[in-house]
Amino acid sequence: MTKRRFGPTGPEVPIIGQGTWQMEGDERAGAVSALRRGLDLGLLHVDTAELYGSGEAERIVAEAIQKRRDDVFLVSKVLPENATRKGTVRACEASLARLQTDRLDCYLLHWAGSHPLEGTLRAFEDLERAGKIRSFGVSNFDEDELAEAHAIVGPKRIACNQVLYHLKERTIEHAVVPWCEAHGVAVVGYTPFGRGRFPPTPGDDVLRSVATRHGASPRAVALAFLTRRPSFFAIPKASRPEHVEENARALDLTLTPDDVAELDRAYPVGKRRRGVATL
Ligand code: NAP
Repeated sequence: MTKRRFGPTGPEVPIIGQGTWQMEGDERAGAVSALRRGLDLGLLHVDTAELYGSGEAERIVAEAIQKRRDDVFLVSKVLPENATRKGTVRACEASLARLQTDRLDCYLLHWAGSHPLEGTLRAFEDLERAGKIRSFGVSNFDEDELAEAHAIVGPKRIACNQVLYHLKERTIEHAVVPWCEAHGVAVVGYTPFGRGRFPPTPGDDVLRSVATRHGASPRAVALAFLTRRPSFFAIPKASRPEHVEENARALDLTLTPDDVAELDRAYPVGKRRRGVATL
């Protein structure tokens, strides 16, 4: 199973994790058992947020990780509207209560909002000192926002930037990925299947032929492509055990340079542009 260091000073974390957005809309027992199946298969990075189902996704995660908290790399996020210095601490404590745990492995600002970034980051440092979070990061940050955060907290402090990344949406590769890699920040790709618009049409044949060569599914190949660099992680969401099993296959799937080159041509990175795309 491929693991890699999560950020400049973090632990080794499996490259494929599990998302939980809109899981609250799925049949609950099924979602809990899908998450548990994922943990059994090594999908130990579990991503949630106070936003998801207004906290309901965190409650589902609590049920899934019961008795195996120490195995899990648990990530949650504060909403920008709550992200003042005091509000961030309150939001984290509420997430911890819903998750029935005493700490998060990483806590993220969901996106940059109107509250000054310094207050949020100082709250992250307070939470870290208090042992309530082990590390902190950001999400949907472009290269300028990353530089601003870096200037506030200093080097080797930002663990990750969680950003939109799938075969048809590779904007981050222009400026955000180079920035993250220069500063040791993990790049966590969300929505790796483009929210149901998978597989995209023009490159289908290539994806399928790479998959056939590896005896894997096109989705597993897509995840392997999206985690091909040493800074990359992906967090697909799946409430069905058979989907989880298919996604877990990517933990052990290494593409050859030729596979990567073919996929790169079939799903081009696109015209140079700055920043991040969002949903
Ligand atoms: P996604 O992972 O690209 O797609 C999820 C959809 O794909 C679900 O309908 C799921 O079905 C289906 N699926 C998963 N594995 C499959 C498989 N092997 N075969 C067929 N279908 C499969 O979309 P996402 O939920 O937007 O993104 C993943 C996670 O990233 C989120 O859950 C969330 O944790 C995070 N995220 C973060 C942000 C942010 O702003 N930071 C934004 C969006 C998402 P089933 O559920 O029925 O199995």
